[in-house]
Amino acid sequence: MDIIEGIRKLGFRRWYERRLIEAHAYLVTGVLALILAVAFLELRGETAAGGERMTYLMSAVASLGGGIVAWLRYHRMLALVEWAGEQATCPACGEYGRLRLLATRPHALAGDPDSDLAAEIPLLHVACRACGNKWDIDATR
Ligand SMILES: [Zn+2]
Repeated sequence: MDIIEGIRKLGFRRWYERRLIEAHAYLVTGVLALILAVAFLELRGETAAGGERMTYLMSAVASLGGGIVAWLRYHRMLALVEWAGEQATCPACGEYGRLRLLATRPHALAGDPDSDLAAEIPLLHVACRACGNKWDIDATR
């Protein structure tokens, strides 16, 4: 669920909370994959048969790759959630996360390959549910 759909369906706070939980699930998955890789390497050391040793080695490499992918995913998701969370406080009244999505548009840096986050995140025009103040949530800030 992307940020626009998430905020519209769940509201900002729930979207934020769920993305944080999802990010930490990736972190746990990455740690478990690294433990699995070490276990396969241990098994490889205790086995004499060449074919079996190769199977354990390939399993360890695959687990390590999965762990790295999970770790990168965790970091990316955490960056997105932190970025959105930092700008979710109403500048007028200080209310956190009680916002309504008014409009979105692709970010100006969407085509820039050096700006991954900006490409993934549109510019969000939001309004505070408490006081009605309007502001932009912008990935480049
Ligand atoms: Zn407000």
